[in-house]
Amino acid sequence: MSLKYTCPVCGTPLGYKGLCWKCRSGQERDTVLHWSPEQVKEKQDGLVRNIRRLADMEDPELTDFWKLLGYRDAITPRIQRAALAAEVYYPCELYYHAPEDVRDGLIHVLLSAENSSEASELMCCLAMQGDDRALETLLELEKHPRPWRKNLYVDPSIYAQCGGWTFDKEGQRMQLNFDTCYPMVKGEPGEGSPIRMGQMREDTCPHCGGRMVDILVLDGRDERLRFLGLDGILTAACCPNCVGFLDGPAFSRFTLDGGVEVFPSRTFDGTGKMDCYVRPEEYKALTENRFILGKSSVPLFYGAACEDVNTIGGFANWVQDWEYTACPHCGKPMKYLAQIQWDTLMDGTEGTLYVEFCPDCHVVSMQHQQT
Ligand SMILES: [Zn+2]
Ligand SMILES: [Zn+2]
Ligand SMILES: [Zn+2]
Repeated sequence: MSLKYTCPVCGTPLGYKGLCWKCRSGQERDTVLHWSPEQVKEKQDGLVRNIRRLADMEDPELTDFWKLLGYRDAITPRIQRAALAAEVYYPCELYYHAPEDVRDGLIHVLLSAENSSEASELMCCLAMQGDDRALETLLELEKHPRPWRKNLYVDPSIYAQCGGWTFDKEGQRMQLNFDTCYPMVKGEPGEGSPIRMGQMREDTCPHCGGRMVDILVLDGRDERLRFLGLDGILTAACCPNCVGFLDGPAFSRFTLDGGVEVFPSRTFDGTGKMDCYVRPEEYKALTENRFILGKSSVPLFYGAACEDVNTIGGFANWVQDWEYTACPHCGKPMKYLAQIQWDTLMDGTEGTLYVEFCPDCHVVSMQHQQT
């Protein structure tokens, strides 16, 4: 395809006339952020009226749902009650922190579920609701599996993770994500930020010979990042070329004074050798990106509603299923920290990098997913 046009906003070469997909997504988000209270109400009313269409993934309902949830945090108990009444259990994010009556309704349907796909959907919904009764119910189902359990791959405690938490054998809750979310935004050249992505390192990758990068460096002492509970610097280092070809996530360990140690890794095919596909101009774009931490926090699902936003905290937009990494040091599930959309750093690259960390061991996991 010949690239004879350019995006009028950002200048990216395009094979068609108009905005590039990232600028279009950004414009749509801007529009939603400027919706008046009346416009929000109108969208909410529309959802309640046509809630069945949401389960069938019909538009505009599905798009409106993600806009209301992701950009305006505007999924109300009224919508949740309408969904329950119409037996709509998709998307499960509908039920995030739903009120008790809705929770009890979900539990009732889950406990009477007879097939595994229904049970699976309902466990996700209950995970999103996420309170102590939800935990008790999932724990009970884990201890005393129903017949449908044998048709599912994982236990209820793994389903709980989709709501950003889980529990151990004793029913002890573990929170896996943060209830604060900040976006990365484009800053001016030289503008200060407690977060940087894609800083070039001195060392090279043992698999491909390309330069390693500190894909994420953040200073937890910045007021906005206090919610992370880090009294210093977190550094996540990986090879941008190989991180998607490893046998599992890439790991590194950080010290609060800015130090980092990269863990040995194995390539997916076991050979230990990779070609370097990241071209010099992509390295340049990656290491010269202008992303900085946004000034204000955003709704928790801000980064889950689109594919062009990098976020710290909140919920990720998992390309495949949600997947929390077990800490290679202590074995506990790690906490979800950030999502980095490769295409925002290097044009035309695919996939998402999910960054997690273990607050006890100071180990960082970097997991790549793509369609
Ligand atoms: Zn553009
Ligand atoms: Zn490499
Ligand atoms: Zn650990």
